Amino acid sequence: MKILLAEKYGFCFGVRDAIELAERTARTQPASGSVYTLGPVIHNKQVVERLGEAGLRTVDSLDQTAGGTVVIRSHGVSPGVIEDATARGLNVVDATCILVKRAQNIAAQLHAEGYRVVIVGDPEHPEVRGVLGYAPDIICVNSPEDMAKLPRRGKLGIISQTTHTVEHFGQMVGLITARGYSELKVVNTICNATKERQDAVQDLCAKVDVMFVLGGYHSSNTNRLAEICRDAGVDTHHLETVKDFRPEMVAGKTAAGVTAGASTPDWIIDEFVRHLQAIG
Ligand code: SF4
Repeated sequence: MKILLAEKYGFCFGVRDAIELAERTARTQPASGSVYTLGPVIHNKQVVERLGEAGLRTVDSLDQTAGGTVVIRSHGVSPGVIEDATARGLNVVDATCILVKRAQNIAAQLHAEGYRVVIVGDPEHPEVRGVLGYAPDIICVNSPEDMAKLPRRGKLGIISQTTHTVEHFGQMVGLITARGYSELKVVNTICNATKERQDAVQDLCAKVDVMFVLGGYHSSNTNRLAEICRDAGVDTHHLETVKDFRPEMVAGKTAAGVTAGASTPDWIIDEFVRHLQAIG
């Protein structure tokens, strides 16, 4: 069985920088228990566990902190959270990815220019929840049914969750355009790292008969990669680590493709590929 890796896969610069900053902060704090992140620093259980060993504690709310430092993860947060953390006397270390910051700033700028801001994205995703704090009355749409949330008229400024596909963004913008607004300003805030991984996986799907997508089950960009593979008609398995692999997944297969989400560390990918090579 041939094993082919996607041309682009795994950690993006935003995640790599956030992990490095979080780890450095945790290791250099005098009291190792007093460095927190609000939610896991990335959607990868294995990396979060390793950072936990370095002294980084994951909390769900600032109420669970007791002084010290809070690291803002690459997804970013709303300005209210930073204000709250500062008011509690916490030292804030901001590891928000620069491309998420760009989306936040564009939301604020569109609002300042008089647009009703619309973000195409998953309303439950932490990045989207953060961006929602950058413009009052911002509307989040993610499906054709969500069009009912939009006002009937006015001028809209549209952005996207950074990890969404251009196809989905285009589809939503098309549906909004069809509603006949007098003015629309569309800013593409989709991250290139995401698109590069999505394009690479699409190319790879044409060359293999089974695809393995490695990454956290809660990682939005990893789930999207798996979705693209399934849409391409390839037998697809989304695995967190090599432990989830079963030999029957490659039974009768001649070529296996491997890719990984932007929050999947190299060692998980290397371990999986080595295992597949041993079987192959
Ligand atoms: S996927 Fe893109 S936007 Fe998200 S953290 Fe990585 S580089 Fe930043």
